[in-house]
Amino acid sequence: IIVVRDIVKTYPGGFRALDHVSFTVRQGEVVVVIGPSGSGKSTLLRCLNGLEDIDSGSITIDEVPLDDSPRNRLTIRTEVGMVFQSFNLFPHMTVLQNVNLAQVQVRKKSRKDAEETTFGLLERVGLTDKAHAYPARLSGGQQQRVAIARALAMHPKVMLFDEATSALDPETIGEVLEVMKGLAFDGMTMVVVTHEMGFAREAGDRIVFMENGRILEEAETQDFFSRPRQERTRAFLSQIL
Ligand code: ATP
Ligand code: MG
Repeated sequence: IIVVRDIVKTYPGGFRALDHVSFTVRQGEVVVVIGPSGSGKSTLLRCLNGLEDIDSGSITIDEVPLDDSPRNRLTIRTEVGMVFQSFNLFPHMTVLQNVNLAQVQVRKKSRKDAEETTFGLLERVGLTDKAHAYPARLSGGQQQRVAIARALAMHPKVMLFDEATSALDPETIGEVLEVMKGLAFDGMTMVVVTHEMGFAREAGDRIVFMENGRILEEAETQDFFSRPRQERTRAFLSQIL
């Protein structure tokens, strides 16, 4: 469902953050992206939903090419949900309003339809009782679960997670990972940048290891952890495991 061919991304100033990256993600697959800081993981995710332009190469999502066509870009923006390290909820809106917003504005749903979807999603992330709370009154883990519900409200075909648990207290990391695992087991197509190797082992179908803007190694989860091919991958794993 995701086809990335030979993409290059250079930031202003000439830094090459992605250096000829190619990979594909099948429908329902969960791909975990790992690698040292600055290796281009966030850049890759941002390119996938059109937040960053690429210099060359191509990206296709569900057969829609991410090209110059505003219509294609909008399609991809709405069909690719993204969850960041910072939750970016609107502070002056309740949980319900935060999750409703894009459904009404982008998907043009009636408020009643949007609310119905929202309550379903809040149940899924375990926050039905917080529908009328403001973000400031929620824990980090709860806010991140709202951010996930908000992304899901667009009925995305693909979900991207960029270190979704890195800013959380250790006690609340687990509740967010549980929601992510639930999505994975329900068949959502996901690309997940994370340092949580427990999640990678349990929910990841495939692991991609990046360094210096390149994919250094890529393998099915079990193979990746049990017999990494590259010396560099072994060194990285021995540091984080
Ligand atoms: P981390 O694990 O620290 O989040 P990362 O793998 O996500 O790292 P990126 O954020 O993709 O790495 O950054 C890749 C490289 O591109 C880094 O060297 C970074 O300094 C550079 N970079 C990222 N964003 C920009 C920007 N807006 N302008 C210029 N350089 C950037
Ligand atoms: Mg990053």
